[in-house]
Amino acid sequence: MIEDKNQQRTDLSQLGEFGLIDHLAKSFEVTQKSTIMAIGDDAAVLEFDKDRVVVSTDFLVEGVHFDLSYMPLKHLGYKAVIVNLSDIYAMNAEATQITVSIAVSNRFPLEAIEELYAGVQTACKLYDVDLVGGDTTSSTSGLIISVTAIGQVKTGKEVYRSGAKPNDLLVVSGDLGGAYLGLQVLEREKEVFKVNPNNQPDLDGYTYIIERQLKPEARKDIIKLLEDLEVKPTAMIDISDGLSSEILHLCKASKVGCDLYENKIPLDPQVISTSEEFNMDSTTIALSGGEDYELLMTISQEDFPKIKANPHLTVIGYITDEASGAHLVTRGDQKIQLTAQGWNSFETN
Ligand code: ADP
Ligand code: MG
Repeated sequence: MIEDKNQQRTDLSQLGEFGLIDHLAKSFEVTQKSTIMAIGDDAAVLEFDKDRVVVSTDFLVEGVHFDLSYMPLKHLGYKAVIVNLSDIYAMNAEATQITVSIAVSNRFPLEAIEELYAGVQTACKLYDVDLVGGDTTSSTSGLIISVTAIGQVKTGKEVYRSGAKPNDLLVVSGDLGGAYLGLQVLEREKEVFKVNPNNQPDLDGYTYIIERQLKPEARKDIIKLLEDLEVKPTAMIDISDGLSSEILHLCKASKVGCDLYENKIPLDPQVISTSEEFNMDSTTIALSGGEDYELLMTISQEDFPKIKANPHLTVIGYITDEASGAHLVTRGDQKIQLTAQGWNSFETN
C-alpha cells in the first residue's frame, strides 16, 4: 500500500528473456544431491535411487489468487513456493526441487521480478529445495506464477487421501482460520486506504493472522515430527481450501464418514477476537476459510499415546463408516452434516 516513488525501474526488454533468466538464476545454489542438472539445459536432470517421486503443481493468478495492492511481490514469491511444498508434505514426502514459471506484462520492471524471486529464494533456502527450471513468457495483463514441486519418499511411506479407516482419529496440525481473517483485515485496510491514502494502516493486534495470509508456512516440521514419533498417518491432505472441504475429500477418497467436534477445532486467540470483531463465527471460518496450509491426517487409535501430548497436533474427531456420513458435532451437541463450502476459486465475490 505504501509506494516508493524513487524506485529504480529497469525495463524487462533491456535484458530480453534469456538475460532475465540468467539474471534470476545466478543467485540460486543447488544443495540437493538428487539434483544432477538444474537451470541451464533443455531439462533438469534428477536422480532418486529407489525412492518414489512425488510431483505437484499450482497456479497463482493476479486478480484471482492475489492482489498486489497488499501482497508484496517478495511475499508472493514465497507463498507460491509454500503452497506447492505443502502438497508434497501432505504425501508424507520430502520436498527436493521446484520449477517456477512466470508470465509477466511489461508493467513490471526487472526490480519487481527480482523481488518476486527474492521470495522464491528465501523459501528455497528455508525449506532446502533447489530451483531447477521454469519458463518465462510475457502476459498481456496480469502476473501469473506457476510452481511445480518435486519430492521424494521411501516406497511405502507415502500417505494418500484414501487410507482412513473407521475408528481412526482425525488430527490437525497448528491452528485454523487465521489466513482467511488476515485477508479480511487487509481488504478492510485497502478500502480505508482508498478513501484516505494518508491513513496509514494500523495492523497492530493482527500480526499473527496477517502473517498467516501473507507469509504462510508449509508443515515440513510435522513430517519430521511424525517420523520421529514413528507415526505413519493412515491418510493425509493439506488444508488449502478450508477444513470442511478437505475432510470431505478425505472421507470420499477413503470411503468413510467422520464426526468432527466443534469444541476441539484449534483456534488462535487472535482468530477468536478478530472473528468477533467482524461478526463472524470462528467455527465457520475454520471450516470454510482456507489457505491455512496445515495438515489434516487420520491416525490409528494405537498411535494416540505417541501424539497425545504434542502441542502441534490436535485430535478433532474420529472416522466412522461411510453410511454414517460426515458430521460436525456442535458445542451444543447437535450433529450437523458437513458441506463442502470451502473456498471456491470460481466464485467471484
Ligand atoms: P526452452 O526454450 O528450452 O524452454 P528456456 O530458455 O525457456 O528454454 O530455459 C532455459 C533454462 O532456464 C531452462 O533450464 C529453464 O528451465 C530455465 N528457466 C526458464 N525460465 C525460468 C524461470 N522463470 N525461473 C527459473 N528457471 C527458468
Ligand atoms: Mg522455455
